[in-house]
Amino acid sequence: MDLDTLPLFSKINLKRKAHLRDSKRLLNLKDCCHLLIWRGKLLFRFNDGKPVPYLIEKRTKFIKNLSNYIFLGEFENKNIVLWDMSHSREVLGNTDQIGSFNDREKNYHPDLPKGTYFCDLRNLLPILNTKYANLCATAKGIYEWHKRVNFCQSCGGKLSSEKAGWEKVCEKCNFKQFPRIDPVVIMLIIKGNDILLGRSHGWPEKMYSCLAGFIEPGETIEAAAEREAMEESAIKIKNVKYITSQPWPFPASLMMGCTGEAQNRTISIDKNELEDAIWVSKEDVFRALNGLDKSIFMARRGAVARYLIEKWVAGLI
Ligand SMILES: [Zn+2]
Repeated sequence: MDLDTLPLFSKINLKRKAHLRDSKRLLNLKDCCHLLIWRGKLLFRFNDGKPVPYLIEKRTKFIKNLSNYIFLGEFENKNIVLWDMSHSREVLGNTDQIGSFNDREKNYHPDLPKGTYFCDLRNLLPILNTKYANLCATAKGIYEWHKRVNFCQSCGGKLSSEKAGWEKVCEKCNFKQFPRIDPVVIMLIIKGNDILLGRSHGWPEKMYSCLAGFIEPGETIEAAAEREAMEESAIKIKNVKYITSQPWPFPASLMMGCTGEAQNRTISIDKNELEDAIWVSKEDVFRALNGLDKSIFMARRGAVARYLIEKWVAGLI
């Protein structure tokens, strides 16, 4: 792993071209490439087992039957438009795990090219090429906002989509709403040779990661990190340092990765928030990262927690 690289999703190679959102005349859908999303799962093809977002080059009959596009921006010299086809009942495959941590099903539509599948982005993270990550994160994130926000927060009226999907306006009172991002602080809590790792209820078995929590109104990143560490584990931290950030569209987070120095060792978990929290030595983290210790699985590749943990093990933070 190249430790100087940014976390997955954080390398920005999508030009948003916001000026094209304003006018339908400026954005000629005929000249765009089209990306499909179905129930939160983007359409991919697989190249040597690695997922590549499947871009439809022409506005085929299939696309023409869809409505409500979102203009994502320019990627590899192509203007990319996202279409939501969640209403389709013709997509095949198991749907039991949709929205869960473990949706590994490849759903497919018989009228789309063979070898293209709707896949859960979170489950592709360990094998997703960084080149496609920010496009996928943007598509997934804006889709999630459209799925969740359909009524006015001010009067309850119906919202209509504007600015090629980047704004919603209330049809009754004209109140404008914009895609929401929830800032989350995620902390690598260090005590000498150990780090504090926790697991939430419902996570895959034996998986551990850094503690995290939403930043509240009126808080700084540092204050939120100190509060969350204390609330979840009764560990007091100081000298919080910001390391990096990562868009995390599950559904709308911006992860702010930090380190913090623990001032005590006795853990007392908030059982509503965590199932377990433990101190793990650098040697044991190294073993777990390299599959030599099957009793702990570290946060998945692609998550900023994994990035922080790997940097720490390599002595880079
Ligand atoms: Zn309204």
